[in-house]
Amino acid sequence: MPEGPEVRLEADKIGQAIAGELAEDVWFAFPALRRFVRRLRGRMVRAVESRGKAMLVRFDNGLNVYSHNQLYGRWFVKPRGQLPRTNRDLRFAVHTSRNSALLYSASEIDVLRDDALGQHSFLEKLGPDVLAREVGYEDIESRLADPRFGRRSLGALLLDQGFVCGLGNYLRSEILFAARLAPELRPKDLAEDQRRDLAAAIRDITWRAYRTRGVTNDPDDVRRLRAEGVARRDYRHFVFSRAGGACPACGEGIVKSTVAGRRLYRCPACQG
Ligand SMILES: [Zn+2]
Repeated sequence: MPEGPEVRLEADKIGQAIAGELAEDVWFAFPALRRFVRRLRGRMVRAVESRGKAMLVRFDNGLNVYSHNQLYGRWFVKPRGQLPRTNRDLRFAVHTSRNSALLYSASEIDVLRDDALGQHSFLEKLGPDVLAREVGYEDIESRLADPRFGRRSLGALLLDQGFVCGLGNYLRSEILFAARLAPELRPKDLAEDQRRDLAAAIRDITWRAYRTRGVTNDPDDVRRLRAEGVARRDYRHFVFSRAGGACPACGEGIVKSTVAGRRLYRCPACQG
């Protein structure tokens, strides 16, 4: 499943195609949503934004089309009048004079007013979005110090979108490695400086993945490895998906295990 950075990059791409433009036509597959067509057609698309792994297409009359792709949904952006080659079912479409944004296969689509976003069953449960510009290190640090989360293992907590939203499986392994912490540790086990380092790793690694389109490894190492001709899959991450490879910090072999039902990679020496 795409993680926060990938969903944000997709929102950027869709926004470049349709934001600031009039929606000349809007189409929904689900009958319950078709009543909104009349209210959205002819309105301007104000912005396309992500909320963790959810997407909002925001219109200038205060309505928003919410969608969550789960494992199946897929967006396509095409010049108006062209359709992608796919066997998927179209579920939602916005057509401007030049472009079309087309959402296929997603089953979670809703239309919400601006003032109802906070009460939506999925959105209301989300913690702070790591990629929201107003969310800083101290917000994440205070989340880690919150007794509600103190007894959860870091391996489970980092995947919980109610703690902070936007993290997924590759970011979890990369963040724990960057902070040199074992996934079994709980926030209550951490010293203050460890909490601060973890908050910094959560924010920095996620923003790095957004800016680099998914590359979380150290930028200097990435430059060097690319110059050596190393393939992207081999320089992309510190530890994720690199079982048996050498830890970039100490050379120890990276170990794969299953934590909270998902694969996790760590250095047994650096991360205890
Ligand atoms: Zn190591």
